[in-house]
Amino acid sequence: MFGFLKQVGDYTRDAVDAARNLAQGFSVTFDHMKRRPVTVQYPYEKLIPSERYRGRIHYEFDKCIACEVCVRVCPINLPVVDWVMNKATKKKELRNYSIDFGVCIFCGNCVEYCPTNCLSMTEEYELAAFDRHSLNYDNVALGRLPTSVTTDPSVRPLKELVYLPVGEIDPHAVAADRPRAGQLPAQVLETLAPPIKAPTKNEGQSTDDAEDSDA
Ligand code: SF4
Ligand code: SF4
Repeated sequence: MFGFLKQVGDYTRDAVDAARNLAQGFSVTFDHMKRRPVTVQYPYEKLIPSERYRGRIHYEFDKCIACEVCVRVCPINLPVVDWVMNKATKKKELRNYSIDFGVCIFCGNCVEYCPTNCLSMTEEYELAAFDRHSLNYDNVALGRLPTSVTTDPSVRPLKELVYLPVGEIDPHAVAADRPRAGQLPAQVLETLAPPIKAPTKNEGQSTDDAEDSDA
């Protein structure tokens, strides 16, 4: 009799444990059903890169003066500027220009310091290739106009999902006044405390004067 009661007790405890585990599992499932999906169906959907995204470099051959500033400011001296000196005109003649994107770290130094602004960073990030040597872009490849997520008709562009209202994944029909799930960078900056101002020269002098008078 005692053995039977023990069996019933064990069975009941196992059943309660199983029900608790089941409830825990379903609570996680139901909790996730309320959340927004975070998966982008790449390559049919793509997130729009941020405005200052540092993607493939675009180069304008006609504006380049072969000064080689881009080479000097590059942390790995990467750009190859191929030029010859024209003895008649005493001017440099540019022959070729190349950047190897298999080595480039996309720091943007060359773009920042180029005196003629012939370099610019694009939002192009799909540079995968089967052969690493094909990542070495010459001036023709660098001069190709960049693709854009927003102008590609075969792609559905998505804004950063975190900025969309809860339950919304399609950014196109979202009214501007609907509350966002996350804060935009500008809104985050507004919430930060104002920077502490350095004392001006006059303020510093007046403090010194006050200390002198106290003494
Ligand atoms: S810094 Fe600009 S202008 Fe000078 S060589 Fe490089 S790309 Fe050409
Ligand atoms: S982005 Fe940076 S690493 Fe790449 S070529 Fe320019 S300076 Fe060099």
